[in-house]
Amino acid sequence: MSELSYKRTNVYEVADEKLLKEIFEYAKGYVKFIDAGKTEREACAYVVEAAKGKGYTPFEFGQTLKAGDKVYYNNRGKNLYLIRVGTEDVAKDGVRIIASHIDSPRIDLKQVPLYEAENIAFAKTHYYGGIRKYQWATIPLALHGTVVKRDGTALDICIGEDDGDPVFYISDLLPHLAAKQNAKPIGEAIGGEDLNIWLGNIPYATAADDKDKTVKENLLRILNEKYGMVEADFLSAELSLVPAFKARDVGFDRGLIAAYGHDDRVCSYPAYTALFDEESPKHTVMVVLADKEEIGSEGTTGMQCSIFTDLIDEIARSFGVSSAAVRARSKCLSADVNAGYDPNFRSVSEPLNSAYLSCGAGVTKFTGARGKSGSSDASAEFVGEIRKLFDENGVIWQTGELGGVDVGGGGTVAKYIANMNIDTVDIGVAVISMHAPYEVISKADLYEEYLAFKAFIK
Ligand code: MN
Ligand code: MN
Repeated sequence: MSELSYKRTNVYEVADEKLLKEIFEYAKGYVKFIDAGKTEREACAYVVEAAKGKGYTPFEFGQTLKAGDKVYYNNRGKNLYLIRVGTEDVAKDGVRIIASHIDSPRIDLKQVPLYEAENIAFAKTHYYGGIRKYQWATIPLALHGTVVKRDGTALDICIGEDDGDPVFYISDLLPHLAAKQNAKPIGEAIGGEDLNIWLGNIPYATAADDKDKTVKENLLRILNEKYGMVEADFLSAELSLVPAFKARDVGFDRGLIAAYGHDDRVCSYPAYTALFDEESPKHTVMVVLADKEEIGSEGTTGMQCSIFTDLIDEIARSFGVSSAAVRARSKCLSADVNAGYDPNFRSVSEPLNSAYLSCGAGVTKFTGARGKSGSSDASAEFVGEIRKLFDENGVIWQTGELGGVDVGGGGTVAKYIANMNIDTVDIGVAVISMHAPYEVISKADLYEEYLAFKAFIK
């Protein structure tokens, strides 16, 4: 190929034995993380423990930071900020920000979930994020979450992950009786109010009188014996059904990983491990693990919360400089996944401008839908700066849009950070079957994402 033309590089095609070994070794740590952190709360707790191990201490508002400090701010157990203070003047050098999210699409219990029909106890649900509902039926589901009881104590629940645990289930029709359902558009095959969770089938006698024998009553007895819960405790609970699958290698060559929740923990893991591993003291670095991205980044734990700029303010105050100056000089990699090009569904992508599996970290200049609507669209200058940085550091990267023009689209946290006057570009790992219960990524892309972050903060 002429040096004048551009072609993306396939990491596995060019990797020597050393790189291949690094890629496979690195993936092992990721698999541990993704299996341990299936909800934002669990992922947050996992990274807090890892941060403590690396000498990070909790940040308190009002605390004065100095060069070399390593702190974390655990926002309500769902959203984490890791900050390492550098030696450069923050008014001139700004903060290097890597922002990913740790929430994933899932199925949440409603606040009054329990009911019984024909001797089956069920839970009503309300799905979280953009799911294709039919994909969530007839798979093993685990129940994760937190219940705040009447006395104010919080109880963490995780059922369905250990081999001996029961799992939960959403039913679908057998093909023999599905003629009508088969004729429906796929998006209507299973409706939002059809995502009812199978909880139990054994009735319990509440009194000598057999009329009171109900499966729901038995369920309440079990919940009370095991967790001290009563039915009203669901009112103040956040309980989610997530796929009970563990992460597994895919294919004979083991180059890919299937797991629940690659979006976006496949970017969160490289973000925090790059921070821990790249000990260069120069830049001030902030790694954000955001919540609520899948439902619009709203609320106290989403990227739109003022806590993000509050923390930048705290850094600026510590050095007696203007927060506006710090933000103006800051740079951000918005670390979120992109749609991987899938040869089985070519028509939704445009082949020149798609992120391909194993072709490295995927830079996305703009997201959005239709005429780039809702995108912050990174400048040529900032993309050029990142391009130079990655090329100089041997990072294999590519560029790709989320699908063809007018096919669909999507957004990330990039715009919320860019709106704060911070140069921001999206960079993520290509995912196959994004938002499905079991998504697929390439180990090579995971590793190149990590190398990209290391280059960015060094
Ligand atoms: Mn995402
Ligand atoms: Mn998503």
